[in-house]
Amino acid sequence: MALDRIDLADIHAPDRLATRLHAQLGPVTSAVPIVEIALGLDISDVRIDNFDGFEGMLLTDRVRSDGVILANCRHGDQRARFTIAHELGHFLLERHEVSSETGFRCTTRDMRETREGRRELRQEAEANRFAIELLAPSSMFDRHLSCDPHLRDVQHLRRALDLSGEACIRRMVERRDEPLAAIWSHEGRIRYSIRGDGFPHLAPKKNDPLPKISQAFDVVSKGVRGITTFRETHAAAWTHRPEIELFEQTRVGRDRHAVTLLWADLSPEADDEDDGALPELGEPGFR
Ligand SMILES: [Zn+2]
Repeated sequence: MALDRIDLADIHAPDRLATRLHAQLGPVTSAVPIVEIALGLDISDVRIDNFDGFEGMLLTDRVRSDGVILANCRHGDQRARFTIAHELGHFLLERHEVSSETGFRCTTRDMRETREGRRELRQEAEANRFAIELLAPSSMFDRHLSCDPHLRDVQHLRRALDLSGEACIRRMVERRDEPLAAIWSHEGRIRYSIRGDGFPHLAPKKNDPLPKISQAFDVVSKGVRGITTFRETHAAAWTHRPEIELFEQTRVGRDRHAVTLLWADLSPEADDEDDGALPELGEPGFR
């Protein structure tokens, strides 16, 4: 794949870098070919294997004359694709300082980093920003979104973009206008959560059990696999804002892994509307 690395030099904003790279690629009709892209940009090898102790690694020097990317596929090939894009981000964002003599070594937690405080955190957050903008640009992503938020969209997005469900949900929370949050749990305990713009602080913390009065608790306890409808829930179960209207939907997968999507209605007129205000919520957005 013929790509021009010079054209990408001196771009330090990860989203602009991804946009410029897409301009070189032209229209992409299937999943973004991340390995071919890396190999077209002075990465000499991409090794995908069951590695121990790290999620991704970029072997390179400070001036990035070339690089080798290692990506862990222990959590699936789709996660590995994101990892490759993340490491390519470290490679192309030339202000990123190598974390060891051999380059960059990134953990699972780094792949979720969104904070921009300390330099090391900011570098990880920027590599993630680049990765998602490259693998799921809005032009390819938004067309798979239904009128209303729905976890079913994630299945379409996974297939279309060859991206993990987790990455698709994170992107969905970010791209949609509605105030959304997502909570990943395992065996009824919260593993981690994210919330989009405008969504209130979440009351439950990591390792807390799912709130007993939530729909999520109910379906996870029953072990019913599949996707529930969006139902109104107790705002006090999830937030410190008992007065808001809150809706929740849960997908229960294998081994009691689950993800719950929360949708807050913060509109001032919400209080004035009767219970039929959002009648379409229980219905599938499309088939
Ligand atoms: Zn990293």
